[in-house]
Amino acid sequence: MDFQAILDDIYTDIQSELMRGKVADYIPALAEVDKGQFAMTITLEDGQVFSVGESQKPFSIQSISKVFTFARALEIYSRDLYKRVGVEPSGNPFNSLVQLEYEAGIPRNPFINAGAIAITDALITHYKDEYKTLEEIIRFIRALSGNLEITFDPEVARSEMAHGDRNLSLAHLMKSFGNFENDVHTTVMTYFKQCAITMTTEELSRSMLFLAFGGTDPITGTTFMTPSQAKRVNAVMLTCGHYDASGEFAYHVGLPAKSGVGGGIAAVVPGHLSLAVWSPALNRYGNSHAGTLALEMFTTRTGLSIF
Ligand code: GLU
Repeated sequence: MDFQAILDDIYTDIQSELMRGKVADYIPALAEVDKGQFAMTITLEDGQVFSVGESQKPFSIQSISKVFTFARALEIYSRDLYKRVGVEPSGNPFNSLVQLEYEAGIPRNPFINAGAIAITDALITHYKDEYKTLEEIIRFIRALSGNLEITFDPEVARSEMAHGDRNLSLAHLMKSFGNFENDVHTTVMTYFKQCAITMTTEELSRSMLFLAFGGTDPITGTTFMTPSQAKRVNAVMLTCGHYDASGEFAYHVGLPAKSGVGGGIAAVVPGHLSLAVWSPALNRYGNSHAGTLALEMFTTRTGLSIF
């Protein structure tokens, strides 16, 4: 398959969509990002990489970081993790407090904010302090992407904390139900730092390849998790990866994928390849408008989806 030609066509066809939607403005540092930008990268098993657009421009990965922390926590805690967070789609906005109250402080899944904060809390318990935890999250992403310089943008993390009342509330609510082990402020700040990690589509696509190949990176041969764990991470990406538009995304795109409010989406075609797309303007669910469409074009034109 001529992946470069497919990407070039998508790039041409997506241009008219780039100004639609709006950038995440509830995080001031992200509100300044120019709309109109687009990048897409495909990584194959043998290391071949195909890209279009600004594929070497770092952006804030935001909720895509939840895939990496979930993967680490699943590997560390195995089934015990389910005592703290479920694996059902929420059908609610990613930062909803109401469902958390109804469900006694156990978040529906690891990709809504409460679930991701509970996972970061579990990692802090495991690594014993927040600095080590952030270091280990970044180390994991560096190992997956092969880029030892990946780090987070402290400005974005500060900006989130300055407007972090809802996430702090989620954490406090979990604590009131006994589903929280560490200091709320410290844990939420660590969560904001992990969300503020910046990556390019080339790095992001590369870092998802292990999930397309049962937990083992086919290029380096490094095993990051068991095939059964990789299956579970992919399943949660498919059912919960796009907030309350996860069903719609599965319907139109048909791939396990995770989006972030920075405009990125990382996806895998199990057994074939991994890909990442970035375009900062978001649809009303908080998913990249052009990124979602580009992935739909990709699966429609290549026939590569899980269905
Ligand atoms: N850091 C963002 C928040 O917690 C992540 C949102 C997202 O990408 O879904 O609000």
